[in-house]
Amino acid sequence: MSDMRESGRTIPVPAGGWASGPVLLSELTTEDLAALLDGTPAVALIPIGSTEPHGPHLPLATDALLSEECCRRAARALRDRGIAAVVAPTVSYGVTHYARGFRGAIGVRAETLLALLHDIGGALLNDGFAQVAFVNNHLEPEHVAVIERAVESLSAERGPACVSFPNHLGKRWGRTLTDEFKRGNCHAGRYEGSLVLATRQELVREEVARYLPSLDVSLSDEIRKGGSVTFHGIGMDRAYTGAPAEATREEGEKSYARLVEMIVTEVTEKLAEEGDNTSRGQIPT
Ligand SMILES: [Zn+2]
Repeated sequence: MSDMRESGRTIPVPAGGWASGPVLLSELTTEDLAALLDGTPAVALIPIGSTEPHGPHLPLATDALLSEECCRRAARALRDRGIAAVVAPTVSYGVTHYARGFRGAIGVRAETLLALLHDIGGALLNDGFAQVAFVNNHLEPEHVAVIERAVESLSAERGPACVSFPNHLGKRWGRTLTDEFKRGNCHAGRYEGSLVLATRQELVREEVARYLPSLDVSLSDEIRKGGSVTFHGIGMDRAYTGAPAEATREEGEKSYARLVEMIVTEVTEKLAEEGDNTSRGQIPT
């Protein structure tokens, strides 16, 4: 490919190179991508969400929309730092047992999700990406555990510097997010509502959200108690907890800034790891 570029034949990369080209992998042509991967270590951000109920006021795709927006913003921030980053097509189905009994909870089995993430990650690495990063906003523990398993298997096969999972459920980043998030009232309340408002306001039923009473059900407390959790079983009768009426665009912008900082930090740390050639085939803990 580089010969074709050097000989001046048409490769439709924008004049500014990858830095000014589309951020979505799906909008590139095969030749755009070849040129991008030819030049510099590149990162593919993989948005992961779910298709499940988020109260009477937020769309079923909420988690996927949040991950896509985090990835778009993080890709631009990485490009500003000279790192070629693109956003891969979204994985919009997750493991969604908690939402059982509500219309629109369209989940897949853990093994299905694991195979999908492993195969997508492996294909992107085969294509020449230096790193794949899983960016997730569906916080059900079994779903998150599947992503961790995909990270472990890709790390074992391809080296730990090839894959990252900036995870805001971990101690390092969770404490940087809002109080409602930290209390565990983090499904379709103020935290998630603010994030949707900041990017897809037209999808929020604001006239409904305004009148929804606050609900103090902590998903993290319920999970800690053990046993099988469902929204219905813990009193989330309309598939939300927290304070939807308090959501604002401003808070959403602040939360995106934190989430993007998390992604950019973890991705650049992994790239430095690979650059230092310090990987010794260990699975990160
Ligand atoms: Zn959600």
